[in-house]
Amino acid sequence: MFKKILIANRGEIALRIIWACKELGIRTVAVHSDVDKDSLHVKFADEDVCIGPARNIDSYLNISRIISAAEITDADAIHPGYGFLAENAHFAEVCQDCRITFIGPGPEIIRQMGDKAMARKTMMRAGVPVIPGSEGVVPTVEEAVVLAEEIGYPVIVKAAAGGGGRGMRIARGESEVRRAYETAQREAAAAFGSGDLYMEKYIENPRHIEFQIFGDKHGNIVHMNERECSIQRRHQKLVEEAPSVALTPGLRQKMAEAALAGARMVGYVNAGTVEFLLDERRNFYFIEMNTRIQVEHPVTENIAGIDLIKEQIKVAAGEPLPYRQEDIKILGHSIECRVNAEDPVTFAPSPGTIRAFHLPGGPGIRVDTAAHAEARISPYYDSMIAKVISRGNSRAEALSRMRRAMDSFVVEGIKTNIPLQQRILADPDFERGEISTRFMERFMPAEKVEPALS
Ligand code: ADP
Ligand code: ADP
Ligand code: MG
Repeated sequence: MFKKILIANRGEIALRIIWACKELGIRTVAVHSDVDKDSLHVKFADEDVCIGPARNIDSYLNISRIISAAEITDADAIHPGYGFLAENAHFAEVCQDCRITFIGPGPEIIRQMGDKAMARKTMMRAGVPVIPGSEGVVPTVEEAVVLAEEIGYPVIVKAAAGGGGRGMRIARGESEVRRAYETAQREAAAAFGSGDLYMEKYIENPRHIEFQIFGDKHGNIVHMNERECSIQRRHQKLVEEAPSVALTPGLRQKMAEAALAGARMVGYVNAGTVEFLLDERRNFYFIEMNTRIQVEHPVTENIAGIDLIKEQIKVAAGEPLPYRQEDIKILGHSIECRVNAEDPVTFAPSPGTIRAFHLPGGPGIRVDTAAHAEARISPYYDSMIAKVISRGNSRAEALSRMRRAMDSFVVEGIKTNIPLQQRILADPDFERGEISTRFMERFMPAEKVEPALS
């Protein structure tokens, strides 16, 4: 087992990883930018290294500074969390070259699945249904126009290197494809350093359903059932739950088998997520694979009774998975609400200093956060400040616990989306589980649903 792990991340996920290390008796190294020097992940780690100024490229995305920090502190492994370098194949390779274990799949797997256009092809080879769309990257806008006619409108233009819901545009006609192609290309180049785009048929009113999978270094691979993440704004998840009310045992089995077939195709190791869209006629299609731990992993932890971060560490250290597929059950129901520092109506980010802070608790409530009273929420980073996760023996119990938890979550000094989350939780369709990725449109003006095609 590792003696010391460096955590190449910040915020709630950095703390979450520290908790897992403490339980395993592993020492921790926090890295941080200068604006994060008073953060809780720095306070609770055994050691810490400042790796540079606030901007991501100067710190949390700076590979040489992170590797230097690992070498100076003699860390034997790096956990990348999610976002930042978590799906960067080059980083995983540099770790390998420096004999530091990257806690995740190897660089070849990240490369094969990280390019979303390439992942589509891999999945097709594994016999997994994908959304009708381009063979690979669509190199020019003219080709995009021709292809869109072939696929049939509406279509969605997507960044091959995309993530976090960015670099994606819907088009319902030729002029929109032209504009969609150009804006998505610009956004993708700026956000991901690659303007490569691919195209899919736009599925109307789908549900987003993803499967947690886990492989070890001994050839074992299991799935831990699904999460439903249909409550989204601008293709970014807001509320997640497990299991999904939309799946029958038969459909669950079919989707799980597809997820596993894709994972086996690349010899997947460590935690991963295979994402699908389920259309109104209950056809499912692969959309992408995330080769890392997911923001919403706690809902799976709750229904599987498995600590996914500890499992990631153990598997990276070479231990075999301690269970077989038939040992993994669905134990009750779990819901997660992402709490963001943003205006609940305009969605404008709301950085600043938290004045008062009271966390919900009580039976069945878990909160993953690095926020606290007097914490400064920086404009440089993601606006998510906490995840509230409920568990119940039924969906109704998980929902009632979540409602009362959100009613007792107090944050003063900055604006948060808690009022919006309360409206979602009170919605009759949400209560019945009648949801799709367009659910949020009822809460916002049309121009807020899709970024303007300017
Ligand atoms: P999840 O699939 O785990 O729910 P999200 O899509 O919400 O993840 O992304 C989690 C965080 O990681 C966000 O801050 C997002 O901007 C960031 N992120 C996701 N994918 C990428 C990527 N390919 N490159 C850079 N950042 C990413
Ligand atoms: P990211 O890498 O940013 O997470 P995904 O490919 O996973 O991007 O898509 C994110 C979300 O965008 C999906 O959950 C879904 O709501 C929407 N989306 C993506 N592709 C399509 C599609 N072909 N049709 C309809 N919605 C889509
Ligand atoms: Mg996704």
